[in-house]
Amino acid sequence: MFRTHTCGQLRAKDNGQQVTLAGWVHRRRDHGGLIFIDLRDRWGLTQIVFDPSTSAEMHDAAHALRNEYVIQVTGRVRHRPAGQENPKLDTGDIEVEGQSLTILNEAKTPPFDINKDSTVDEALRLRYRYLDLRRERMQRNLMLRHNVVMHIRNFLANEDFIEVETPILFKTTPEGARDYLVPSRVHPGKFYALPQSPQQLKQLIMIAGYDRYFQIARCFRDEDQRGDRQPEFTQLDLEMSFVDRDDVMDVIERLMISIVENDTDLHMQAKPFPRLSYQEAMDRYGRDNPDIRFGLELADISQIVVNSQFKVFSGTVASGGIVKGINAKGLGHYSRKQIDELTEFVKEFGAKGLAYLVVGQGENGSFAERSSFAKFLSPDEVDGIIAELEGEPGDLLLFVADKPGVANEALGRLRVELGRRLGLIDDNVLAFCWVIDFPFLVWNEEENRWDPSHHLFTAPMDEDIPLLDSEPGQARGKQYDLVLNGNEVAGGSIRIHERKLQEKVFDLIGLELEEARERFGHMLEAFEYGTPPHGGIAPGIDRIVMLLAGEPNIREVIAFPKSQSATDLMAGAPTDVTEQQLKDLHIKLR
Ligand code: ASP
Repeated sequence: MFRTHTCGQLRAKDNGQQVTLAGWVHRRRDHGGLIFIDLRDRWGLTQIVFDPSTSAEMHDAAHALRNEYVIQVTGRVRHRPAGQENPKLDTGDIEVEGQSLTILNEAKTPPFDINKDSTVDEALRLRYRYLDLRRERMQRNLMLRHNVVMHIRNFLANEDFIEVETPILFKTTPEGARDYLVPSRVHPGKFYALPQSPQQLKQLIMIAGYDRYFQIARCFRDEDQRGDRQPEFTQLDLEMSFVDRDDVMDVIERLMISIVENDTDLHMQAKPFPRLSYQEAMDRYGRDNPDIRFGLELADISQIVVNSQFKVFSGTVASGGIVKGINAKGLGHYSRKQIDELTEFVKEFGAKGLAYLVVGQGENGSFAERSSFAKFLSPDEVDGIIAELEGEPGDLLLFVADKPGVANEALGRLRVELGRRLGLIDDNVLAFCWVIDFPFLVWNEEENRWDPSHHLFTAPMDEDIPLLDSEPGQARGKQYDLVLNGNEVAGGSIRIHERKLQEKVFDLIGLELEEARERFGHMLEAFEYGTPPHGGIAPGIDRIVMLLAGEPNIREVIAFPKSQSATDLMAGAPTDVTEQQLKDLHIKLR
């Protein structure tokens, strides 16, 4: 037997037992002739003591040990001397008196400390990911991830879902990103596409009558690596038949609550999860993924300033734009320089400027103590604005006048920035909410056409189907997003299940029938063989685990992530390939 116990197992009740442990040297301390080793494995740490009076030879061997050596130790468990117990360690009441020691493998000095949670350059961590994964933080994160995934599997199996694997080599399944392509050797000049999601396949599984499907599915999207995106990531992919959106949302809501309650100590802000319409989310928070852990809601003052002498405001409203503001509570003391900084901040999100008004305490109530625009407004207009933003003396009111998209984006971002500055965001709270009633289509300025707001297969609201002919921009879709602390963590929809409507949607977004048949003919054909009404959703596992773990990006919860530039720094992928490989694949490099 290699070992009798793990390094996290021994307790005071094991006193006197003869044991064998194996693991890594976490730390070595020489102390008054004794050598102490913290021996580590996945389960924990156990203190080993080597005493020169037991065996001088073994004591010398212990002296040669360095961090990360892999060793096997046999010895007797004993209570630590009184006062030397370590309550922070599960095994902290005992130690093992080393009687024999085998070095199973030596180790070079690691490029960074494994036994400390020190800050290490991420490129170095990724280059030596197998060492980084030894560190406590990563072990904790991967365990949490495992628990969450196991929880999902058990929960869904209990609710009669079955897990079905779908191919990785497939045909384009568009989710709005670029495909990863795999050249076919057998079919010269032809390519497989890696799935951006199993979307079509899970719908086909519904057509096949399986009713409740899920999969822990890898998805591949060749996107620019902004923020915490990864070229491949994992979704809980799920689809159900004979359901409406409440059924899908109900399963996911219960699953999320169950995960949080069983696998974390975190607190949920509200159960059941609040539901916001897309419009409400945009009006109040400027975003369709609102962080509802704090207030600072946006206010629309367009109607108050529509006739004002301040042309930046009235002109914007006259040309179809809006003027919105936010009350930066208590920040009236901000200097011009600090306000300029906030202005620079909103400019990054497309705003042309940031108008401000500091609320002062006058004899007859609040007034504009300092402002970039109040002198152009009537007293009624100023009062109206202060009232609309619930301004009190000492508040700083900030405004953006622009197209609705720009004003909302800039102020929505500013809101989160202010929430952070004002310390309003509690990191121990999980604020889930649903966003529903999305527009069915979004206008693509660049290409001058409609794009699906979710994806090609999402159904429009029944009552909005006539709008597809008259005012497509007004139609709402049967889409729902789950948002957690300002992050979209799941998106799904009830699907189109009739060929005619599907073809109409293809047509609306400018997919020629020929091209649609070429790309999705199998779906259109399948629709004609008895398709049940169905819908589903796909929570992003990386992102959810990241938020539960309190980590800043998804790379911290993925064992072997790619770097920001989509490379694997450890193995060095992507790499060159041989001439022969290219030849086999009928490829010539330019
Ligand atoms: N396939 C969709 C996505 O990846 C999710 C869904 O509609 O179920 O976002």
